[in-house]
Amino acid sequence: MSRSLKTKLKQKELQLDAVIIGAGFSGLYQLHCLRNELNLSAAILEAGNGIGGTWYWNRYPGARCDSESHTYCYYFSRELLNEWRWSERYPKQSEILEYLNFCAKKFDLERSIYLNQRVKQAIWNEISLRWEIRTATGFRLEAKFLITAVGCLSSANHPKISGVSNFAGDILHTGEWPQEKVDFSGKSVVVIGTGSTGIQIIPNIAKDASKLTVLQRTANFSVPARNAPLEKGFHKKFCTDIDSWHRKMLDSRHGHPWNAETRKLCETSYEERNEILETAWRNGGLRFKDSFEDILLDESSNQIMSDFIRLKIKDILNDNVKAKILSPFDHGFGTKRPPIDTNYFETYNRENVELFDVGINNICNFESDGIKLSDGTKVPADVVVFATGFDAMTGSLLKMNIVGRKTFNLNNEWQEGPKTYLGLGVHGFPNMFTITGPGSPSVLTNMPRAIEQHVDWISSLLSYAKANNVNEIEAEREAMLEWTEHVSVSAKSTLLPKGKNSWYFGANISGKPSVFMPYAGGLNTYRTYCENVASNGYKGFRMKYDT
Ligand code: NAP
Repeated sequence: MSRSLKTKLKQKELQLDAVIIGAGFSGLYQLHCLRNELNLSAAILEAGNGIGGTWYWNRYPGARCDSESHTYCYYFSRELLNEWRWSERYPKQSEILEYLNFCAKKFDLERSIYLNQRVKQAIWNEISLRWEIRTATGFRLEAKFLITAVGCLSSANHPKISGVSNFAGDILHTGEWPQEKVDFSGKSVVVIGTGSTGIQIIPNIAKDASKLTVLQRTANFSVPARNAPLEKGFHKKFCTDIDSWHRKMLDSRHGHPWNAETRKLCETSYEERNEILETAWRNGGLRFKDSFEDILLDESSNQIMSDFIRLKIKDILNDNVKAKILSPFDHGFGTKRPPIDTNYFETYNRENVELFDVGINNICNFESDGIKLSDGTKVPADVVVFATGFDAMTGSLLKMNIVGRKTFNLNNEWQEGPKTYLGLGVHGFPNMFTITGPGSPSVLTNMPRAIEQHVDWISSLLSYAKANNVNEIEAEREAMLEWTEHVSVSAKSTLLPKGKNSWYFGANISGKPSVFMPYAGGLNTYRTYCENVASNGYKGFRMKYDT
């Protein structure tokens, strides 16, 4: 951190053009664009004691990204793409964290990042036309623009289970994992949750713990990741083809470098589809779902693919009872975020791994040495790991007490679910932009592509504002309501609403309104909407010019 910023931090007050909240993929790139490219004064407030966002907090054993390494990175700098070398097909948490720290150094970002500064309040001052932002340490900033880069999956969900204070062992949450290594050897460990995170951590804990008990509420589909070291020569070849990788990602619905194959599963013969599915299963990864185009559009196609995975689960498991518990029956493949795994189902064949279906045999309460289930079973535990996910998409935004024009309060405005214009702006909150906010494709995409698109769009808008003396930019109410309706209609044109209890709807958080939050129309389509809005004088945004 530069000396002048340190001094200002001591003075506990700072005036800036823009404040960015969060130092993950989005915040770092936004800072680079505003400070290094547009020459605006900008800084990041970050709650953690280090940069990295998701990859700072989720450092549990086995944490790894589901997007492939050479696509899960910034594409704005050719030099960076040439310079950084990934080691495996999918990047592990520590490698991503190393990458982000490398980027922060390379683009000289660290001097404008304030760590350990959790934002507690942001208020729009209608007289000064500036945001007043306060952090938990009492630090106060004023800025013309407020940009949230808080991530979609960053507010840990801690389910309320009675008797927790009686428990004598350790309780950990995957989304707030300790900095130091956790030693499971010789311990009885309980994992609650079998989402993408549980599916990654379970095989890793099973290797170390003397006993692992998984408490599963909903069985989940998973496809093998088939992770492996990248072949020698991969990087060199990749560097000759960067534009083509980029183009493919930008043209796809989900920001990965492929589109779904143009064939329908339900219209493909039994033999042919089995061959295709077997090949896709052997190749592994998120592309499995896209081996046909209609998995999230046609119920019978979805059913065939779901049955294929259920059969795989049965084949892998040595124990029919466990296989039955692990076979999803209440939702189709892909209607909830599909995980990919390394030896997940195989792990249940280990002798030290036990499984309970707490969807039927519910969790009752903690006792000093374990967890009691409703049938009276006592599950002994030295350590309980909550892999219970997040208050997704809105959780972190609503924790910051954001108050806009005329006391518009974000918590009140979103009581019935988030309403945004393009997932970027909210009526009543001038000069505030939400990177990968609800109503944008975000979690349905390879995140760095959605992030770069949002950051580039916001940066162009702020450049326009600077050049044209714009004081206020605010999403119009009608534009916001129309977009919010479009987000809802887009989800309904797919099978996504059938994902029972999905966090896409906020269904994992009690009391949260049931609203499909991400935009399901595809990143490619969404880009066009955003480009059209910009080229039509930022249609749907009210601009107030300095006269
Ligand atoms: P999640 O998908 O929300 O899964 C949480 C799990 O905890 C579910 O199995 C849920 O059961 C269970 N659960 C929640 N409350 C419970 C309770 N009170 N009692 C018993 N079980 C309970 O969360 P996640 O696994 O952390 O994943 C969230 C998202 O993060 C993923 O979908 C993905 O987008 C992202 N992620 C990505 C990666 C990657 O790229 N490799 C890795 C991890 C996470 P129910 O299903 O019944 O609610």
